[in-house]
Amino acid sequence: DNKIERHLYDVVVIGAGGAGLRAAIEARLAGKRTAIISKSLFGKAHTVMAEGGAAAAMGNANSRDNWMVHFRDTMRGGKFLNNFRMAELHAKEAPERIWELETYGALFDRTKDGKISQRNFGGHEYPRLAHVGDRTGLELIRTLQQKIVSLQQEDFAATGSYDSRIRVFQETTITELMLDGDRVAGAFGYYRETGEFLLFEAPAVVLATGGVGRSYKVTSNSWEYTGDGHALALRAGATLINMEFLQFHPTGMVWPPSVKGILVTESVRGDGGVLRNSDNKRFMFDYVPDVFRKQYAETEEEADRWYADPDNNRRPPELLPRDEVARAINSEVKAGRGSPAGGVFLDVSTRLPAEQIIRRLPSMHHQFKELADVDITKEPMEVGPTCHYVMGGVEVDPDTGAAFGRVQGLFAAGEVSGGMHGSNRLGGNSLSDLLVFGKRAGEHASAYVDTLQVRPRPAKVDVAAAVEVALAPLVRAAASSTGSSADSSTGSSADSSTGSSADSSAAPSADSSAGSSTASSAASSAGSLIAENPYTLQQDLQAVMGDLVGIIRREGELTDALKRLHELRARVANVGATGGRRYNPGWHLALDLRNMLVVSECTARAALEREESRGGHTREDFPAMNPTWRRINLVCSLSFGEVHLEHKPVPAMRAELLALFERSELSKYLTDEELAEVEEQ
Ligand code: FAD
Repeated sequence: DNKIERHLYDVVVIGAGGAGLRAAIEARLAGKRTAIISKSLFGKAHTVMAEGGAAAAMGNANSRDNWMVHFRDTMRGGKFLNNFRMAELHAKEAPERIWELETYGALFDRTKDGKISQRNFGGHEYPRLAHVGDRTGLELIRTLQQKIVSLQQEDFAATGSYDSRIRVFQETTITELMLDGDRVAGAFGYYRETGEFLLFEAPAVVLATGGVGRSYKVTSNSWEYTGDGHALALRAGATLINMEFLQFHPTGMVWPPSVKGILVTESVRGDGGVLRNSDNKRFMFDYVPDVFRKQYAETEEEADRWYADPDNNRRPPELLPRDEVARAINSEVKAGRGSPAGGVFLDVSTRLPAEQIIRRLPSMHHQFKELADVDITKEPMEVGPTCHYVMGGVEVDPDTGAAFGRVQGLFAAGEVSGGMHGSNRLGGNSLSDLLVFGKRAGEHASAYVDTLQVRPRPAKVDVAAAVEVALAPLVRAAASSTGSSADSSTGSSADSSTGSSADSSAAPSADSSAGSSTASSAASSAGSLIAENPYTLQQDLQAVMGDLVGIIRREGELTDALKRLHELRARVANVGATGGRRYNPGWHLALDLRNMLVVSECTARAALEREESRGGHTREDFPAMNPTWRRINLVCSLSFGEVHLEHKPVPAMRAELLALFERSELSKYLTDEELAEVEEQ
């Protein structure tokens, strides 16, 4: 039946990765009743997959490092499009957030003198990534969870209930935010296992839902990254910025096909691994762009000396920011110098003794042995670009994480938020971002709750509409004729075996709080149309995004992509899922598709609009960076179901931050007009 379980909280955090957990801890510490909601199992998030480490200028490996150097590297990596205030806060606060994790019980790898060890990564001037072997994300999540458990134990001692002040709802998907006027009033969703509905009434919601990678076939992202938070924000009246900037990580596995896209950590290059083409050439020396020429070695000898003597040599070009390395690999493969499986070779076997490889890169050793039968201590890996991270995201106030747009009470942190990384994120800057801005979002969501005189309430009619939208795919499939496309999918037939007992619940039935006519109206609107299969739709969407909005973009293809996304919109509106509400992945995907679609549309629209190449956005027809475009953020909003795109000026950097850069460097990014202003200051 359509019974809805209701919960009352002060702060609801959607997402249980690093950003969500850190926000929830802060909200609970501020005395707020806090819910953490996670689409996947608790502990299973992208954060747990992070291998390389968390960037923080602690200066342990090189005492010259400090927040100003980190700020500079982050701005350079993002090609100066970053929200400078976020980059500043991030660089200043990351060390404190890392040390704080150790007070929660984390234990990072150590230097010989007992300090937190820091490793090299692309685009970071000094070794800066605090790490635990190549399993850093696991330690981060484990520790944040441990902190939550310890808070729950305190609450048990005080109230007799572990869940009284902070509660985790795992395998629970939020499909809609609830509003009261322009104020957040809560969130609506379902338990994935039972398909039963839940309504969270809360005046503040923190989005911490991570990325969008599942709109691409070759991706390092796992199934839950369907851009839900981005889409929830849009539908609630918030805005997204710079969605054209997607990071294609240069090194994903390319063989065997079943694992194509799985990440090969940048630590392999940080620890000495080199890239070679089929002629056995270290080709990255041919791809150092002018803006980075001063900082990177010109010969193999200098690059190799850098590992032992970084103060007197320049870095190897394999450690350029990710966008540069991904484009270089793409060019080598296109020029016919790729590996047999269509990537290039990444070799650490001739660079480090086997024992060191196994100690420093245990997960990579295991991953290649298990998945590809390759022993990375003896032979090179084959790697190629994979869709990895979205720089664009919810437009937020840099200090508080409050979403822009007309909605109040909505906050965002972590990968779902935009601005911090500009056009390209440096490796390691995400884990630190989660901690810095997760904490801030939790703190400011709590402060916002304190300002409210009256608690916003979700409207019955909105709850009814959310129920209708959620049930529609089931109703459509039930209404469409037997043997329809929805019935013939592998996914759907698998679903029906798990969902048979709940088939009856898909039929329209009365709902105590939501309109009882909703489901039947969805059925009649479906009429006799054959419902679309969600798996086919996802494949078609991935083909559009991968082929036409991928790593290298062109005007004609982007226009074509938008046309196809428009066609897909009509098909997604008719998606059906056979089976019932009990653990039905086809139904879950059917609901995720509308999120993937709207977010993909924002990406394609912005990619067509931005007529330059910068960071994670490469236009073959506009191959250079254009200083005029650096002054523009592309802001996406949704109005009556249509995506709108606006130009908005990038905030001008404060004078004392600008002064951290040499004029010769600024001249590579800023317009003449901006440079003249700098000189006047
Ligand atoms: P996530 O950790 O992605 O968590 C998102 C949460 O939201 C999950 O709990 C999910 O279930 C939940 N969710 C999503 N939608 C819904 C919904 N509708 N309803 C309810 N819950 C929902 N970065 C680094 O800095 N260093 C690294 O070494 C590094 N290595 C990486 C390795 C891999 C393989 C990958 C994929 C990424 C890596 N990254 C790394 C990037 C980094 O891990 C992610 O950007 C970061 O973890 C994102 O954290 P988050 O808290 O924003 O979201």
